Parts: sequence; structure tokens; C-alpha cells
Amino acid sequence: MEPVNIIGAGLAGSEAAWQAARSGVPVILHEMRPAVGTFAHKTGDCAEMVCSNSFRSDDDVMNAVGQLHWEMRTADGLIMSMADKHRLPAGGALAVDREAFSQAVTEALQAEPLIEIRTGEIDDLPTEGSWIVATGPLTSDRLAGSIRAVTGTEALAFFDAIAPIVHADTIDMGVAWEQSRYDKGETEAERRAYINCPMNRDEYEAFIDALLAADKTEFREGETAGYFDGCLPIEVMAERGRETLRHGPMKPVGLTNAHKPEEKAYAVVQLRRDNALGTLYNIVGFQTKMKYGAQTEVFRMIPGLQDASFARLGGIHRNSFLNSPTLLDDRMRLRKRPNLRFAGQVTGVEGYVESAAMGLLAGRMAAAQARGDDLGPPPFTTAMGALVNHITGGAEAKTFQPMNVNFGLFPPLEEMRSGRKGRKDRYPAYTQRAKDDFRAWLATQ
Ligand SMILES: Cc1cc2nc3c(=O)[nH]c(=O)nc-3n(C[C@H](O)[C@H](O)[C@H](O)COP(=O)(O)OP(=O)(O)OC[C@H]3O[C@@H](n4cnc5c(N)ncnc54)[C@H](O)[C@@H]3O)c2cc1C
Repeated sequence: MEPVNIIGAGLAGSEAAWQAARSGVPVILHEMRPAVGTFAHKTGDCAEMVCSNSFRSDDDVMNAVGQLHWEMRTADGLIMSMADKHRLPAGGALAVDREAFSQAVTEALQAEPLIEIRTGEIDDLPTEGSWIVATGPLTSDRLAGSIRAVTGTEALAFFDAIAPIVHADTIDMGVAWEQSRYDKGETEAERRAYINCPMNRDEYEAFIDALLAADKTEFREGETAGYFDGCLPIEVMAERGRETLRHGPMKPVGLTNAHKPEEKAYAVVQLRRDNALGTLYNIVGFQTKMKYGAQTEVFRMIPGLQDASFARLGGIHRNSFLNSPTLLDDRMRLRKRPNLRFAGQVTGVEGYVESAAMGLLAGRMAAAQARGDDLGPPPFTTAMGALVNHITGGAEAKTFQPMNVNFGLFPPLEEMRSGRKGRKDRYPAYTQRAKDDFRAWLATQ
């Protein structure tokens, strides 16, 4: 049987290798470390956690990432089983002893007879054979160059510039209103594509003060190259002058407050739809390096967002990721070169768990193909399915930025659409549906 080759033994590549081998398909796992390093990795071990030691919430009833844990455990995931083995006390979160965890993943992969681990950088996208590219946010420069040569320079980013994303149903539409600047657009939907939050002068001044005073994250050494090319954090814009934002992303022109047409706003914050479902909106131009705690506090000062719940907070990081909605099919294959699958953070998911989950899926899909079968993604009512559906089609391609798993990616439940049930009812209903549908998907394999 033709082997599945995997580039990168990180969170995604390790899980992909495990899944393919456990289903009887030989795997060659190529990892450049320790021969070639990155600025963040410290060891030559597989599945090294480069920063925090947390897999976040382990609550599989009320939390989407907890539900993703459940799905990965149910699918015999290596990353979850080693995380469980090396768990540290952390309340409701799943924190692990990072060194013991990575060593255990490495040993499990080394002990698996169908996996061969080869040390060395792959610097060119292979044209033949079955490959999974799981090279992560710090994909080596040479391979990134080769990916760009195939996908086009715009299609592989080296930095993310993440603006916060808000759950649409938590925006106060008694304050905000829908309108595109100058009512531009061919259709009614286009003319109402943005949600606008108005500020008067006092609100704007207080907002600028809060931005300037907020706690910010510093870049790590080696991380900054190229970052000032067109994606300035809002707090840096505010530092350049108190009026800068009012003449930039917060300019109040071409908009009329639907609730108070006679009142001219001093500044306007705009939100743009972020997924086809219309459940998520991003705050336009609000990429930021503010710490998470500071972000929620500062962004809830925006009129209309006082009760906002955030699906994802903002950030700017060194991060190689593809414009997956335009490049990948729903089997995670590069449309132009279907012998190449992508998995992990390089596909535009964000986080250890999400990356490992995309590895799990790519490993199973590649193994199915090697056996002459075809495996489709899980239904998008599951956490894994919702995530892969988002990156390969549900997300807006033009503004695509990396995404964590969250309930905003799940299709709304029919019976709850009209009733506007609270989270206490909605989340358990989402996770119950996800479990049923995930089990049914697994049963087909
Ligand atoms: C500085 C930093 C901090 C982060 N902090 C967090 C955090 O706190 N929590 C969180 O959830 N996520 C964090 N992330 C994101 C995190 O890196 C990913 O969630 C996760 O590691 C992605 O898994 P992956 O398998 O896609 O990539 P990785 O785990 O990075 O694995 C990719 C592997 O590919 C190898 N590789 C790269 N290029 C080649 C090549 N050409 N040939 C062979 N091998 C190659 C690399 O050495 C690496 O082992 C952080 C990322 C960075 C850069």
C-alpha cells in the first residue's frame, strides 16, 4: 500500500500519523527538528506545546472546545489520550505536563510499527505520492516559498491580524443598525452588510483613553519581521494621534443612525459578517495586541456591544496560514494539487486542540484514500465538522483569518431559532446533537 507522507510532527502531524497508522496504512513522518529549529520550539520532540500548557476547557456540555475534546477522544485521538495521561490540576481546564506529554506522544509514534519518523526539512512541495502538509504557524521559509509558488503570494499569509469576533445575537440592535457606507451594494443584503455602532465625542475620547492605557502583549524575539506592513494594531494607530482612528477604521462618513437620523455620530465602529450563517461578526480593522482581559473591557465600551459575547478575541502573531476557503476542498486537499492535503494551524484554524483535530481528520481521510475509499468530513453540526466547514467554505474568503472552535460556527437549532433560548439551553442542545452526529459519522468508517 502506498504510504501517507506527513510533513511536520507537531500537534496536527502527530495526530494524523497516528490515525492513518491505526487504520492500517503505512506512514512516513518528516520532521525538521532538531536539525532545523524555529524561534518558538525548544526540543526535538513531537507535538511540542510552544507556549501555554493548556488545552482549554474540558467541559463537553457547555463549551465548544470541550466538545472537540470529546470527539477526539471518541475517535481514539493520540493527543487527547496523552493529554489525559499527563493531566495537571487546573479546575475545568485540561492542562498538561508539557514535557511528559510531548515525550509520550513521541514514544507512542516511535513504537507504532507502521510509522517511520525521518528527521529533515522538506523544502519543496512534492508533486507525487500522498502527502499531508502539517507544518504549522512557523512553516520553514523554503517550504513556505514553495507553497506560495503553487498557491499565489496572496494565498499564504505570514502573520495573522485578528480582529475580535462577536456573536451576532449579543449585539444590541436597539443601539446599532445595519447599513453599508453610502448604502453601497447591488442588493438589499449588500446595502445592509455592516452593523454600525455610533459614538459621540465623549464616548470616543473615553475609548481612546482606554485603548492607550490597556495592557498589551509584547512580540517575542524573531517574531516581528514584516508586521507593520498594513495591519497596524488599533492601539498603535491610537498612539499615533487621538484622531487617527476617527479618520481610519472608525470614520463616521456615509452612515445615518437608523435610530436617531438627526444625530451625526462622532465616530462609528463597524462590524462585518464573518460566516455564511450570519451568526458571527468581526469588528472591522480592530486587529490588536491588547491582552484578552483588556480587550473585553475596552470593546464593551462600544455602544451596542455593552453585552457582547466574543467568539474570538483579537491578536497579531507570526502565523503561516493558507486562504483555505479558496484553496482547499472539503477533503482538505489543495484543489490545484489533490495529492496534497493540509492540516493543522496552516489551514487557518487556531490553537493546539483545533490543529490536532484537523490532523485527525486529514489522517483519516488520507488513510481512506490509500485503501481506495473516500471519507467525507463529519457533519457540520459536530465541532470538528463545524471547524472544517468554516475553513473550507463557510468563512468569508476575502477577510479570512484563523479561527478557534466556537458555537457560532454551529448551525442554529431549528426549534430554538424563534424562541431565542439562552445559552444554558442552547449549548447542551448543540453538544448533544454534535455527539449523536459524530457517533453516526464514526460508525460509517
Ligand atoms: C509563539 C507561538 C505561541 C503560541 N501559543 C499558543 C498557545 O498558547 N495555545 C495554543 O493553543 N496555541 C498556541 N500557538 C499556536 C500553536 O502553535 C498551534 O496551535 C499548534 O502548535 C499548531 O499545531 P500544528 O501541528 O499545526 O503546528 P506545530 O505544532 O508548530 O507543528 C508543525 C511542525 O512542522 C515542523 N516543520 C515546519 N516546517 C517544516 C518543513 N519544511 N519540513 C519538516 N518539518 C517542518 C515544525 O518543526 C513543527 O514541528 C502558538 C503559536 C506560536 C507561534
